[in-house]
Amino acid sequence: MAPPTADPSDPADEDAFTPSTDELVANNARYMETFSDAGLGLVPRRHLAVVTCMDSRMDIFEMLGLGHGEAHIIRNAGGVVTDDVIRSLVLSQRLLRTKEILLIHHSDCGMQKITEDVFKATLEAEVGIRPSWALESFADPYADVRQSMGRLHNSPFVMYKDHIRGFVYEVANGQLVEVVDPRG
Ligand SMILES: [Zn+2]
Repeated sequence: MAPPTADPSDPADEDAFTPSTDELVANNARYMETFSDAGLGLVPRRHLAVVTCMDSRMDIFEMLGLGHGEAHIIRNAGGVVTDDVIRSLVLSQRLLRTKEILLIHHSDCGMQKITEDVFKATLEAEVGIRPSWALESFADPYADVRQSMGRLHNSPFVMYKDHIRGFVYEVANGQLVEVVDPRG
């Protein structure tokens, strides 16, 4: 148990960290004992892909009432539509027949707490190299969901665009709030 002063968000506070892998592997051994998903197919049954943030407070299956085998879940920092998310969606749609996309950002996101230029300058000062990639930080998750919907609609690689909807998950009460698509 970490001491009461431990702050898990402070990378310098080593007291707050104990590796979990051994415990997780033991959990998996128990999971196998009652495993019942062997019959699930490769193609998601709902033909649905969800793009969302890696935030640890969001259990996507639980919050949406999804079952195993029903949807692709594509996650990164912020749930931002990057080239790599487009890559996954293209494979999801063309090879695995998904036709609906759900975008979910959330309140209190880590991406709202950093500034692109400041973060990059700090990294550069520390390691000597400025990253070529964009952080894609944002101030307003609602505005960034609209931005993400726009990127999907503008991508020539995304094949199915008729069923794209965007939401912000409120971490304080678990509510999904729909973001109106500016395209109407
Ligand atoms: Zn987040």
